[in-house]
Amino acid sequence: MNSQRNLKPDIKASSLEEFLNYFSDQGLKSFHAKQLFKWIYQKGAEYFEDMTDLSADLRKKLKNDFAFSHFSPEKVLTSKDGTKKFLFAVGENEYIESVIIPSSKRTTLCISSQVGCKFACRFCASGLNGFSRNLTTAEILNQILYIKNHEKGAMITHVVFMGVGEPMDNYDNVFKSIRIINSSSGLNIAARRITVSTCGLIPQIRAMAKEGLQIELAVSLHAANNTTRSQLMPVNRKDPLDKLLATCKSYSKATKRQITFEYVLIKGVNDSQEDARQLARQVKGMLCKINLITCNQVKALACCSADRQQAVKFQNILLQKGILVTIRAPRGEDIAAACGQLRYSLSKKKR
Ligand code: SF4
Repeated sequence: MNSQRNLKPDIKASSLEEFLNYFSDQGLKSFHAKQLFKWIYQKGAEYFEDMTDLSADLRKKLKNDFAFSHFSPEKVLTSKDGTKKFLFAVGENEYIESVIIPSSKRTTLCISSQVGCKFACRFCASGLNGFSRNLTTAEILNQILYIKNHEKGAMITHVVFMGVGEPMDNYDNVFKSIRIINSSSGLNIAARRITVSTCGLIPQIRAMAKEGLQIELAVSLHAANNTTRSQLMPVNRKDPLDKLLATCKSYSKATKRQITFEYVLIKGVNDSQEDARQLARQVKGMLCKINLITCNQVKALACCSADRQQAVKFQNILLQKGILVTIRAPRGEDIAAACGQLRYSLSKKKR
């Protein structure tokens, strides 16, 4: 379901402050704005009719002024490791993915921010069909609300913007949705449990440092030198590694927050011992940790993951240099859980 096709603004396009202004402009009591917000984000309402403690007249007015979109999945795949992937249609032959990743201590929901991606990283399927458009704030929130309202027992504790699309390329809608996810009247998820991932868009990292939010920043590094990084991530030609790392240093200094660097180990490309030593030199002294990822294979891309043994060797070199580093176990490999794989295979069939 696509809120962009409605002419009326979606009810989830507004922050609490905007609702308060709307209620004040309409001569309505302000406490109704908070009631409305709680119905949407905490009490599972999907229709104005569900909001039983608002008067019939007020519900009618809201229905007249706002659209109320919600998602239902086109396809759901469950992995044997408990990971569950949802494919949502957001327009004609337009799909996005959301993935629930449960573990013993937390339930993480990975959400999409765009339909497709412009950045064409070599190991990622999200951009294989190119870029269509940004998701609206409502579409970003609808992914979380569908899972919250319909997946029994899925208590979402963490939200990560690591699904389809580059979140920083849809900055305004992503940050508006983050404020609603974090708001105590909204989804009430602590800022430190919300992560924004980026392929390294420098102006947006600088802007994020000024947001005053305690959210987590994950930067996709994937190489320790410009030659390899430009091969893997074309964005490096515009925002090169040295400039990106200098920006990350300034970000940590300004926010006092640790940055996570994501590093997908690709066999024979960026997984050598010299790569590990170079990476250690690049991040030395930074407030950071490194997540090594043995990637989910993408059949359409000629990328082959380094094996576990190689990952451990790489990790040990970083540990010897005093760098905080973990190896992230791949999840949902049997359901193509890496970002963009399912939507790519489905849209290919429909073309
Ligand atoms: S890794 Fe992120 S930025 Fe790169 S193509 Fe995939 S979605 Fe886009």
